[in-house]
Amino acid sequence: MTSRKSSFVIVYHRQPYEEAIENGRPVFRENKSPNGIVPALKGFFSTAKDAVWVAWKQAPASGKANFERTVRIKDSYGEYDVVRLPLTPEQVKAFYHVTSKEALWPILHSFPGMFNYGPADWENFREVNRLFAEAACEQAADDALIWVHDYNLWLVPFYIRQIKPNARIAFFHHTPFPAPDVFNVLPWREEILASLLSCDMVGFHIPRYSENFVSVACSLMGATREEVRPAELPFHPTGVALAEPSVTTALAYQGRRIGIDAWPIGANPRVIDAYLATEKARKRVAQIESEIGDRRLLMSVGRVDYVKGTKEMLEAFGRLLERRPDLREKVKLFCVCVAPADGMSAYRAAQREVERLVGAINGKYGNLSWTPIMLSTRGVPFEELVCYYRAADVCLVTPLRDGLNLVAKEFIGAQGEDPGVLVLSEFAGAAVELPEAVLVNPYSHRNMDANLDRALDMDCAERQQRLAAMNERVRRWDVDHWATHVRERFDGVPAVGDSLDRDAA
Ligand code: UDP
Repeated sequence: MTSRKSSFVIVYHRQPYEEAIENGRPVFRENKSPNGIVPALKGFFSTAKDAVWVAWKQAPASGKANFERTVRIKDSYGEYDVVRLPLTPEQVKAFYHVTSKEALWPILHSFPGMFNYGPADWENFREVNRLFAEAACEQAADDALIWVHDYNLWLVPFYIRQIKPNARIAFFHHTPFPAPDVFNVLPWREEILASLLSCDMVGFHIPRYSENFVSVACSLMGATREEVRPAELPFHPTGVALAEPSVTTALAYQGRRIGIDAWPIGANPRVIDAYLATEKARKRVAQIESEIGDRRLLMSVGRVDYVKGTKEMLEAFGRLLERRPDLREKVKLFCVCVAPADGMSAYRAAQREVERLVGAINGKYGNLSWTPIMLSTRGVPFEELVCYYRAADVCLVTPLRDGLNLVAKEFIGAQGEDPGVLVLSEFAGAAVELPEAVLVNPYSHRNMDANLDRALDMDCAERQQRLAAMNERVRRWDVDHWATHVRERFDGVPAVGDSLDRDAA
């Protein structure tokens, strides 16, 4: 590893590669999927020469790492160090599986009824966040830009600010940020807000989330709005559930200015185009189409998680078969619902329910030559997924709540001349960018049923028209655009000391 201190440190809980053991030695393979958070963040390494990534890796119960703490990675994104913070199985369970997933996750997604306070271990959460901050600061130059990701590292900025008062600290939320009424359920709310307010920039996917944060920062902590602007493209400012007509771009708090940013991560449609143009992909799409025959293919892709609304989507599909006997044997649903890692008890009931419903629907309507739903609880490789996107007639992205949802954008990027229809929940962040999708309210049976019929009955001209509008956005505001936008916002973050007081002087 390099001994120089880094000017750019990313702190994200996952390691940015897939690690395997080959001939008794660890090997680091580039992630197969070119889409998602990890590739989007690694894109920043192409311009930062001395970048460091800080993540965790499970160590034995003693806490002593049985692996190299720092590894140097060279891949298609550049060359960078990855520091692996050793956490014991107990720490991982308490910090990640319990406090993050059982207490914070339901609040972030506006499911206060699922908030499980009892087993949450805040002392452990603090401790793990402090360890992350120390690991980041060991690598960072005093004035480095340290970019912290996601709610499970909410307290990291506070600890970094103690150790490196002159660092430039940015934070990005990959989840929704709930309305104050829901956020305030958290008993640790002031501590979380104090940490976020010690940042120089706090980022979110869409204005609704940033406005929710601004609202609670003002009402609970006494921050004040410094700068408010009308929301502009790619956001649809009014008329849909998560629309927000204006957006706060800076807060003032205790003599400091905190930039507030709302910009959604994009997909990588060029990678999808390139793959779909290959002979291998063409053959695979043709094969899927021939297996489906004259049936219509519906698809849904996500992780097992109650917020993804898979149960509600399956129930809607069951009602469709009940309501429209003409569609029996004429439709097939490919439902990818990837099972969580072992130990994630927060999702166990959701997985059981999905499996039960698929069994019930297949049992009620299926026969020897037709199984209405094909369920995969295994992940599907991205290239295979892209072929299904291309072959599908309808993609059902119907979460009860979702920070953004990249599947919706990938599906749009994969369509051809006879495009499929995107059915998109109004409660997914992507809906404020893609209002030409068939927007649904997954909480309403009537609304879901009517829109499923609409999607299945839509003529080609309307499908093409809707696709054209969405395609333009998905391609214009892609992952590279997101990176450019974020870089510009970083450039606007003043070096510390350049506070409001100084501005006023
Ligand atoms: N994905 C995949 N194979 C699967 C399921 C998902 O490659 O079997 C990818 C998908 O293409 C997308 C990402 O995982 O890029 C999921 O991102 P999304 O924003 O839709 O959901 P999240 O899991 O982040 O909530």
